[in-house]
Amino acid sequence: MGPDFETLAWRGHRYDVRVLGASFEYLALRSSAERARAAGQDGSAAGLLAMDAYEIVLAQARDVHELAREHPDGDVCSCGVVTPPGLPLARATGHLDQLRWEPVPVVLVTTDVERRYESEPATALACCQDCGWTSPELALAEAREVAAAHSCDLSDGSGHEA
Ligand SMILES: [Zn+2]
Ligand SMILES: [Zn+2]
Repeated sequence: MGPDFETLAWRGHRYDVRVLGASFEYLALRSSAERARAAGQDGSAAGLLAMDAYEIVLAQARDVHELAREHPDGDVCSCGVVTPPGLPLARATGHLDQLRWEPVPVVLVTTDVERRYESEPATALACCQDCGWTSPELALAEAREVAAAHSCDLSDGSGHEA
């Protein structure tokens, strides 16, 4: 993604508008790469940026949160939220459900950062933004089950911190 960094402020958090608009960014970059190639020019720069944008589109479609951009003002999650510098995604708040674009208590944050391009992450953490509970590192399917079962009201010894 390019150098510009424009944010939307909402409910005490900041969201990177280019990450929120990743699907638009993906198609716009593909379009310019294809137009360049059709004109006999080099479209590879736009093509590489399109691949970056597509990774964000995929993360949003699977609703697993992952690092989308690094920026001096804070890292940006695939859900668009800008995290305070130095704070891991799993500890940050302000994550949005990436399918419905609503605030949601429990999110999945990938811990599989070395995976192949376009592949689903193998492992994730389930994190509750309301009570601070975080699961151990789990296989993705298991993390989804644990996330769905989490309730801040239960005192069942499942690792609640609050
Ligand atoms: Zn997020
Ligand atoms: Zn909770």
